[in-house]
Amino acid sequence: MNIAQKFRTIDQRVAAAAHQSGREAASVRLVAVSKRQSVAAMREAYAAGCRDFGENYVQEWVDKAAEMADLDGIRWHHIGRLQRNKVKLVLPLVDLVHGVDSLRLIEAIDLRAGAAQVRCTALIQVNLGEEESKSGCRPGDLRELLEAASRCEHIDLRGLMAIPPPGDRTESSFQQLASLREAHGGASILPELSMGMSHDFEKAIAAGATIVRVGSAIFGHRV
Ligand SMILES: *Cc1c(COP(=O)(O)O)cnc(C)c1O
Repeated sequence: MNIAQKFRTIDQRVAAAAHQSGREAASVRLVAVSKRQSVAAMREAYAAGCRDFGENYVQEWVDKAAEMADLDGIRWHHIGRLQRNKVKLVLPLVDLVHGVDSLRLIEAIDLRAGAAQVRCTALIQVNLGEEESKSGCRPGDLRELLEAASRCEHIDLRGLMAIPPPGDRTESSFQQLASLREAHGGASILPELSMGMSHDFEKAIAAGATIVRVGSAIFGHRV
């Protein structure tokens, strides 16, 4: 299958998984993770209907976005670890920042967004594995971060994001993120749950994901 066919297949599987859990297809957004993929590959996905792209590395993304400036309607997602000194570069491009995980990053985003007179739409990333090396806040710190972000005039907080630890407990990790949302105000306050990747997006949707981030299943191996 070429990239266009793979994109359409994944898109259909997302819709089917949404229907399986009694939701409309439009309630789950498919983000095509295009880090370390070529502009040519991304254009193939765009031609097949893809509008949401996820990028991790800011400089690579800025370069590719410039090359794709002729394409209308793209929504860019920043899904990786965001360094505070890159916030300024990210704000003019980004539709949704998935990886907000510290008070200092919240402050930097609010300050920069204020200076640019924009509002930044963001998710708080939770580290469900509680591994030292991974990004994401500890579940125990979530309340403090949510309160801080909700006080920021230039941040529009929309929900939670997680990358479950590797292994066969991903289903319970998805449930865990959904439960954390319930414990912190529920879907009316935090409408988005960004969870699920190439190998487990259907399980994530069954657990309530509203955004899935799929890379290799659409684009193949990264270069
Ligand atoms: C790379 C990446 C993905 C996509 O992973 P695949 O296994 O290729 O689908 C999703 N989310 C994040 C945060 C990533 O860094």
